[in-house]
Amino acid sequence: MKSALTRDALRSTDPELFDLVEREHRRQASTIDLIASENHVSRAVREALGSLLTDKYAEGYPGRRYYSGCDVVDEIESLAISRAKTLFGADHVNVQPHSGSQANFAAYLALIPSGATILAMDLSHGGHLTHGAAVSFSGKLFRAATYGVDRKTGVIDYEHVRSLASHQRPSLIIAGASSYPRIIDFSIFSEIARDVGALLMVDIAHIGGLIVGGVHPSPVPYADVVTGTTQKTLRGPRGGFILSREAYAAKIDSAVFPGSQGGPLMHSIAAKAVSFLEAQQPSFKEYARAIVANARIVAEVFLDEGLRVVSGGTDNHLVLVDLANLGITGREAQDALERAGIAANRNKVPYDTRSAMIAGGLRVGTPAITTRGFSADEVRLVARCICEVLREPTSELARDRVHRAVLEMCERHPIPGDD
Ligand SMILES: *Cc1c(COP(=O)(O)O)cnc(C)c1O
Repeated sequence: MKSALTRDALRSTDPELFDLVEREHRRQASTIDLIASENHVSRAVREALGSLLTDKYAEGYPGRRYYSGCDVVDEIESLAISRAKTLFGADHVNVQPHSGSQANFAAYLALIPSGATILAMDLSHGGHLTHGAAVSFSGKLFRAATYGVDRKTGVIDYEHVRSLASHQRPSLIIAGASSYPRIIDFSIFSEIARDVGALLMVDIAHIGGLIVGGVHPSPVPYADVVTGTTQKTLRGPRGGFILSREAYAAKIDSAVFPGSQGGPLMHSIAAKAVSFLEAQQPSFKEYARAIVANARIVAEVFLDEGLRVVSGGTDNHLVLVDLANLGITGREAQDALERAGIAANRNKVPYDTRSAMIAGGLRVGTPAITTRGFSADEVRLVARCICEVLREPTSELARDRVHRAVLEMCERHPIPGDD
């Protein structure tokens, strides 16, 4: 029998779609990706994702499925679970959530009744839509109170969190963010939660890879439940997971299936298992250290060049720039950078008065360029290129100069699979 892994049937069956994938391939290969939530997966992860495991229905959990023929996928899911347990040191792991948002939905369903009060970081201060934003299920099903960062320091105001918690009496406190550049102190959050009788959920969607790489403290000893994604710093497939204490295991599992999902995506769970194995290697620790070192270089260059860096620097994989003093919006910055071959997203900064579509800031992340092996000097050059574009967003000369430098660096550092 031939190998089960797909080869190049797509080209002959659907040339139109094949060409689109190739166009995206060329775009990724020739773009410097600084979107903090993106990464480039290994070829092994991609092969698992593209496998025939997508054919199998496996509602339920290993050893407790509704369909026959689940012996092999049982082993695959058990492997993913045991690897994640080792990686995070968690009592219980659920690897079935289709995404980070699904993981959060299931965690809420398991922990609190609808109408309950949650206390989470404000979206415009770095929180996530699923942490109680009005447009999200989380803001419709729960009463959301929000905390933010200190106006001067840009760091979470833990005393404010404490006083909000004692006034709002939330059932659940949520820590974790999408655009917060500093270490989060989970021990303070757990103390506050304990004092007001709330449960603590930590969402590590962005920083999962930094935690297993040993460059950010782990929330596992402090939180009742931890949710996360595999596609960001963890460098796995697009998907979610939930870690919990044993006491919540049964509730979490039934909130995922049958509570909020049907059949698990076995190809995705297999790819999660591969990425967990990759994250257990000593080289992943080096990768995580390099992500942070590179983000620090970006922050230093920005500060040297007079940019306003929220919180004055970074402890993690991202740098948040307040563009107010440059006289351009986040949207203009994003578009000008894209024309020069650099992908970074517009982002609200704390106390931003603009809408999320325009935004007054720019978020710059280093997970993807670190995967591609950019050196410290190249990261410095990338940061200088960004400054050049931000200073002269409409200059074709600046754009062309930067674009040439971008293409040279991309050529030197192919994306995984092209090397
Ligand atoms: C990215 C993110 C999510 C959602 O993940 P999706 O897979 O896009 O649904 C949840 N929480 C935080 C903090 C995130 O940054």
